[in-house]
Amino acid sequence: MCDGSFKDAYGTAAWVLEGDTSKGRIVGRVIAPGNSSDHSAYRSEFSGISAVMVMVKNLCSYHNITEGSVELACDGLSAIDKAFSYVSLLHIDEPNYDLIAAIKHQWKYSSLLWKVRHVKGHQDQHTAIQQLDRWGKLNVEMDQLAKAYIGVAKSRPRHFSIVGEPWSIWAGNKKVVKDLASTIYELAHVEQVKQYWFSKDQITPEQFMNINWGAIGQAMSQSQRSKRSFVSKHTVGMCGVGKFMVRWKERVSPNCPRCGQLEDASHVWICSGCNSAEIWEKSLADLEQWMSSVSTDPDIQDAILQHLKSWRAGNTTHVNIAHDLQDIIQLQEQLGWQSFFEGWIPAGWEEAQQAYYSLIRSHRMGRRWTVCLIQKLWNIAWDLWEHRNGILHQQDNCLSSAELAVLNQKIRSLYSQLLNSSISSQDRYLLSLPIDKLLGKDSTYKRTWLDQAQVVMAVVRKNSWSNSSRIMLSNMRRVLYRWLHRST
Ligand SMILES: [Zn+2]
Repeated sequence: MCDGSFKDAYGTAAWVLEGDTSKGRIVGRVIAPGNSSDHSAYRSEFSGISAVMVMVKNLCSYHNITEGSVELACDGLSAIDKAFSYVSLLHIDEPNYDLIAAIKHQWKYSSLLWKVRHVKGHQDQHTAIQQLDRWGKLNVEMDQLAKAYIGVAKSRPRHFSIVGEPWSIWAGNKKVVKDLASTIYELAHVEQVKQYWFSKDQITPEQFMNINWGAIGQAMSQSQRSKRSFVSKHTVGMCGVGKFMVRWKERVSPNCPRCGQLEDASHVWICSGCNSAEIWEKSLADLEQWMSSVSTDPDIQDAILQHLKSWRAGNTTHVNIAHDLQDIIQLQEQLGWQSFFEGWIPAGWEEAQQAYYSLIRSHRMGRRWTVCLIQKLWNIAWDLWEHRNGILHQQDNCLSSAELAVLNQKIRSLYSQLLNSSISSQDRYLLSLPIDKLLGKDSTYKRTWLDQAQVVMAVVRKNSWSNSSRIMLSNMRRVLYRWLHRST
C-alpha cells in the first residue's frame, strides 16, 4: 500500500510492504523528486508506487526470489491506470513522464506478477477506523505518514534522481520532467533565435529578456496556423511583399500596389494609399471598444491608442502619458511601436494592467488581457494585409503573363506533391478544388493558397522525415538484435 501527499509545492509518499499478516512489515517514506514547479498530488502518488517497486525489487534480489506475486494498492485511480496500462502509450509530453517511465520500466523487467488494487481514500472521514477493512486502514495510516513527512521534505534540498529510471534529460542542473518535446525544442532553438535577432541589431539581450514571450506564446497557440505563419513571416520581414516578390522572381516591380512606393513588410502597416487610413481607423476604433469592454486602465488605453496613431502617421510628436506608465513607455519606445504593433511587448504592460485590475478589485487577469491585446493587434495587421491584397487583386491584369506562368507552375507542382502525401484532415481543404479550377482562380486566391500549401508541405516533409528515421532505427535494432543472438 502506498499513498502520496502534496502541499506548498512539496510532495511526499509513504508505503508499507506486508505479507499475509502485518508481521515483519516494512514501512518507508520518500520525498518526491523534482523542482517546485514539477510537484502535484499526482506526482506524489507516482513517487509512492515507484518506491514500492524499488523496495520489492531489492527484497527479491536480496532473498533470491524469482517468482511470486504482489498486490499493489493505492487510492489514486488515475495514477494506477496510467502506470499499469497495457494499452496506452506513454507520451513524451505527459506530466511526470520520468516517474511513469521508471515505473513502467520496473514493471516490465520484474519477474513477479503485479496486481493493482484501487482503495478508496480517506475512508476514516465517514467510518470509524476499527470498522475499516485491512486496505482501508493501511491507506489511512499511509496518508497520515505521508502528510507528516512534508515538513521533512521542506527542510531537505530538492532531489531529482529516480531509481530504475531508464534515462533522463537534464538541462544544466535542472531535470526535464514534463513537456519534453517543447522543452527540447526550446533548448535547441531559442539561442539561435536570439542570435538571429541580436545580429539584426533590432533588439538588445536586455530588451529581449523583457519581452512577454509567455503571452506571445499563448496568443500564437490560440491562433490558426495560417495566422501564425503570417505573423512570423511579417515580423521577420520576409513575406510576399514587393521587395521579396522581386527577389523570388515572382514580380517585376517591388512597388506597393496601394501607393506605388517601394514595398517592404513594414510598409504594409503604414501605407497611406487607397483609403488604407479608413481600415486603420476602423481597426483602432474596434481596438478601443474592446479595451473599454475589458476594463482597461484608462491611462494604458489612452497611451496605446495615442502612440499607435502617431507611429502610423510617422509623427514623433510628444504624447502626454500618465506618470505611472513612463517606464514602460520608455521601454516600448526603445523597442519601437512597430514592435508593439507586431506583438513584441514588454512584460510591464501586463503588470500595469494587472495592477489596475487589482486596484478596481476585478477578477480579470492581466495575462488574459495581454494575450487578447496581442491577438487584436495581429488582427489589425491581417486586415491591413487583406486590404493590400484586395487592391493587388484589382490590379491583377498588371500581372504579366510570365509572372502568371511562374505562379501556376508552382501551384501545379505543390498540388501534386500534396496529392501524393498523407496530409491531415484539417489541411484537406487545400485539395478541395480540382487543379484546373484552382488555376482558374485570381492570383490573390492562388497566392494565398500557395502560402498555406507551403506551410502544410513543410509539416509533411518534417513528419515523413521523422517516420523514416523511426523505421530506419527499428530496422537497425532488429539487425543488431539478430546479430547479438546469432548462433555461434
Ligand atoms: Zn503603399
